[in-house]
Parts: sequence; C-alpha cells; structure tokens
Amino acid sequence: MYISDIRATTVSMPLEAPLLHSNGAHWGRFVRTLVEVETDEGIIGLGEMGGGGQGAQAAFQGLKPYLVGHDPFSLEELRFKIANPTASLYNNRTQLAAAIEFACLDIIGQKLGVPVYQLLGGKLRDSVPFASYLFFRLPNATSGRGEVQTTEQLVAHARDLKARHGFSTHKLKGGVFAPEYELSAYRALAAAFPEDRLRYDPNAALSVEDAIRFGRAIFDLNNDYLEDPTWGLNGMRRVRQAVGLALATNTVVVNFEQLAENILNPAVDVILLDTTFWGGIRACIKAAQVCETFQYSIGVHSSGELGIQLATMLHLGAVLPNATMAADAHYHHLEDDVIQGGKMHYQGGRIAVPSGPGLGVRLDQAKVARYAEEYRRLGDYPYDRDPSRPDWFPLIPNQRWAKPPSPGEV
Ligand SMILES: [Mg+2]
Repeated sequence: MYISDIRATTVSMPLEAPLLHSNGAHWGRFVRTLVEVETDEGIIGLGEMGGGGQGAQAAFQGLKPYLVGHDPFSLEELRFKIANPTASLYNNRTQLAAAIEFACLDIIGQKLGVPVYQLLGGKLRDSVPFASYLFFRLPNATSGRGEVQTTEQLVAHARDLKARHGFSTHKLKGGVFAPEYELSAYRALAAAFPEDRLRYDPNAALSVEDAIRFGRAIFDLNNDYLEDPTWGLNGMRRVRQAVGLALATNTVVVNFEQLAENILNPAVDVILLDTTFWGGIRACIKAAQVCETFQYSIGVHSSGELGIQLATMLHLGAVLPNATMAADAHYHHLEDDVIQGGKMHYQGGRIAVPSGPGLGVRLDQAKVARYAEEYRRLGDYPYDRDPSRPDWFPLIPNQRWAKPPSPGEV
C-alpha cells in the first residue's frame, strides 16, 4: 500500500462566543485545516492542523513529492523524510508531520480493522476525563450571548457547563485581566465547587513576582497545578521554588530537548502533551514514557480541536498509564463539528474513546463544504489580536490588562 494523494481543506468553525487569552482572542471561530491522505487501495486517512489559509493548504500540497509512493506503515521513515530535526532548522514542519502521522495511523487502523489505540499499546480506559476549560468571553457578535467577564458570569458559565457535561475539574484561562481580578474569579470558582479540582493558566503573562504572589494566594485551594504562570524555564523554576505548587506547561517544554533540560534541572512538574505541537500521537507517547521513567506527571493539552484532533487526544489519553488528570479541550465551545454524527458528547465530564477502525471518526463532507465556504467568506483571523481592543498588544511580562466591566455595565 502506498500514499497516492493528499488533500487539505481549511474550514472556519463557529464558537459560541469569542474566547479571550493573554495574546488576543479566538474571534468567535476556529480556523483549522483538515487533511485527507489517500492510498492506492482507496483507504483515506484523516489529519487536522490548527490555522489555515492558502499557506496551510499549499504547505500540505508541497509535501506531495515526499509522500506520494510512501508506505503509510513506515512512520519512522516519514518522520525523517519530512521533519528531520536538522533540516527543521530551515523548514520546521513539525505540525504538518503531526497531521500526516494522524492520517497514516488512521489508514493503518482501517487497513487492519482496529482502532488506533490498539496500534499504540491498547487502551487502559474506555473514556477520557476533561476539564471545563473556562474562558473570559466576549459576547457573540450575532446573538449578543455568551459573554463572560464578571465573576458572576464566570461562575454561572461554569455551573452551566458542569450541569450539561458533568465536569469536576475546572480550568480558568487567564492572563486577560489584572492578576488580582483573576485571583478573585478563581477563588470564586473554588468556593462555588468545593469538591472539584482547579487549574489556572494565564499563558505565561505574569511577571515572576506576580506569579509567586498568585501561587501563594491559591495555595490552600484544590489545585491540580498552576499552568504557565510566567514565561521561560528559569522564570518557572523561580516560581516553583518560591511557591511549592506543582507547575504545568505547554509552552516551555514542547520538545525532547526541553524535556531533557527540565529533567536535568527541574522547572515544571506536569508536561502537557499536545499531539500537534510534539509532532504526532507517537511522539507524545514517547514523551510520556520519558516522564513515566523520571516520574513527572503528564496531561493532554488542547490547541483548539475539531473532531479529528479530538480523536487523536482520546486515543492518546486512552493508552497512557500516567494520564491521571483531566485533559483539556476547547471542544465544548464549538457550535458544530465536521465529523459524521455531529459533535462527540461528554458524559460525566468524559468522552468515550472512538472504537471504530483507525481514528474512528469520518468526515461529514456536507459539513466540510459548508465550513470551507465559511472560511472562504471570512478568511483568517489574527490569534494575537483582540477585536475589542484593536490597538492593543501585550508585553511579557504583561501589565496592559483588559479593563474589567464596572458594576452595572454588563
Ligand atoms: Mg496552557
């Protein structure tokens, strides 16, 4: 069997409301590029990558000379063909390689008639727990609904998500308002859900000193960890030493060099593995095994997924013995999905691991066409811009915080 063709389609998927983060916002939608890798036997494997535009579609087309004729079972050869680490100094294709790896695993699973988790050691759990990934949100531009800016709105939003999906871990995405404001919002979540677990992630926006102050002020709460409170391995190390809370990261340990450095000179306790950032599901498993050896914890990171990437996260979460904490997903903020059967469902805060051959998800081509048309209509959006603050950009460490609404304003 060999790869005979590759197609990439960029889609724009609406979100319930724009999601604010330390660098800007997701502007009420995600732009994702879907990849279909076809073989001479007619099996089609699916991949997905964040971002899009003609750049992403052209980048996948540019891989055709490398991939056409390649045996999809030869995954290690594939890695060196398109993401050789020394060649990557000139053409970093890690995220492209990840999407192609997803598709090849999907092809192998379909060819053998087994789910991807069977190719990765077999599943240890039938479903994966998720956190309620809470964002400060702007109102939906069309309906005016979905705003989350005040503490009251945040707690009400969390209660609604818990009631609908069953979450018992809550993650607050911060780095938007001043730390004191977000601290009081976080403590309000802790008071509202005394039995549940918590995590706070300001996307590295705080100074080391603000991060230490924040960490000490939440020390008494039921925290899983404090995620990327500040920027850089050395800043994280100072916060960890001063606070004593477990720190997690998806920013300063995102490859094997950094993982080795973190083991030799510890700065972070929990490594959040992203199937895209690390270059595929198998790279995440390798990283998880290094973490298991050195007894570091891991989690499953979300970089804003539709159903294909969610499937990769579920297969990953199913096979890792040390995935003991709830995974992250933006998924419940989506209004729809491009997979057949519509969005996957949470039950008791968990999503079932797909059991069909390969990744276990197939594209709904009518939905793909609809959201590809949306992309053609709307184009890209800048991740590092906030539509409510057009001239703003943040610093690291940041002090240019958003202004919280005053009482009566919302
Ligand atoms: Mg993070």
